Amino acid sequence: MKELIKELVEVYGPSGEEAAVRALIEEKIKESVDRTFTDSLGNLFALREGAPPLLMFSAHMDEIGVIVTHIDDKGFLRIAPVGGVAPHLLVGQRLRFKNGVLGTVHHEKIKELKELDWSKLYVDIGAADGDAAKKRLRIGDMACLHQPFVDLGGRYMAKAMDDRIGCAILVEVARRLPPSLPQGVCFVFSAQEEVGLRGATTAAYRLDPGYGFAVDVTMVGDTPEAPLMAVSLGRGPAIKVKDRSLLCHPRVRELMVETAEKHGIPYQLEVLERGGTDAGAIHLSREGVPSGAVSIPCRYVHTPSEMVDAGDVEHAVELIEKLILLSWPSPDEGWT
Ligand SMILES: [Zn+2]
Repeated sequence: MKELIKELVEVYGPSGEEAAVRALIEEKIKESVDRTFTDSLGNLFALREGAPPLLMFSAHMDEIGVIVTHIDDKGFLRIAPVGGVAPHLLVGQRLRFKNGVLGTVHHEKIKELKELDWSKLYVDIGAADGDAAKKRLRIGDMACLHQPFVDLGGRYMAKAMDDRIGCAILVEVARRLPPSLPQGVCFVFSAQEEVGLRGATTAAYRLDPGYGFAVDVTMVGDTPEAPLMAVSLGRGPAIKVKDRSLLCHPRVRELMVETAEKHGIPYQLEVLERGGTDAGAIHLSREGVPSGAVSIPCRYVHTPSEMVDAGDVEHAVELIEKLILLSWPSPDEGWT
């Protein structure tokens, strides 16, 4: 899986500009499913047909990024965030625009770090002046971080682990599934999660699934002076209890826990006090969809160096595979 993860995290794909990620995933998954299709928001669906209830597993393709708001006469760009980006984490970083232009982020004079807001940041793309810069980029062009994937020895570090690791996990699950399944499953590679779960909203409406699951990263509490949180790197995938976007359906959560225990798959329980995920949109679709989430513990979420544990990734693949092989009851029968 390491090669697949490396390929996925290094592709350009801020929210709304997921085309390259989508093409790569479609290429990797099409042999493992009955059909793939897309919608006008840019979601990619990979469907294994089967009996109801349909299971929907969603991992988002988009990553955090920035957008050009102004180009001055000297050729420096001003930027605004796309998704949850902290300005101080960009200082000194390299950016890559869709057309391949590279740049670096610096800031105007400040007395204290807390003065560093978006108005102080600028991007230098090496242009001689404003006209030269405008020949290469326009207002509204987006960029993502420019960082290679690295294997630190069982732990992987890259930009966009959030949530290409979820995409890689679903591609791998699709490859491992047997020819016959107890019910249909649709792998959704969603667009625009980082700007408000937008792709998952229309994807869930279209699919009208019996059950919904997000596969995404979650934060951890195992680094120096981290906020107290009972999730650590390397102790297994986390079964979500709640985040700010949803309270996972208790029976879905119980079935996930039972499945992990039955198969000896290590797991942790996740209460995420900040942030949300695609399941937040899925569970509110139509008349409501019982939903849960498999979360991949990740250090330094929304930074250039997001870190995950290879064992957690493998165990997440195993857990999702077992969840798909479970016979899920009709959600209409007493699922309240
Ligand atoms: Zn995410």
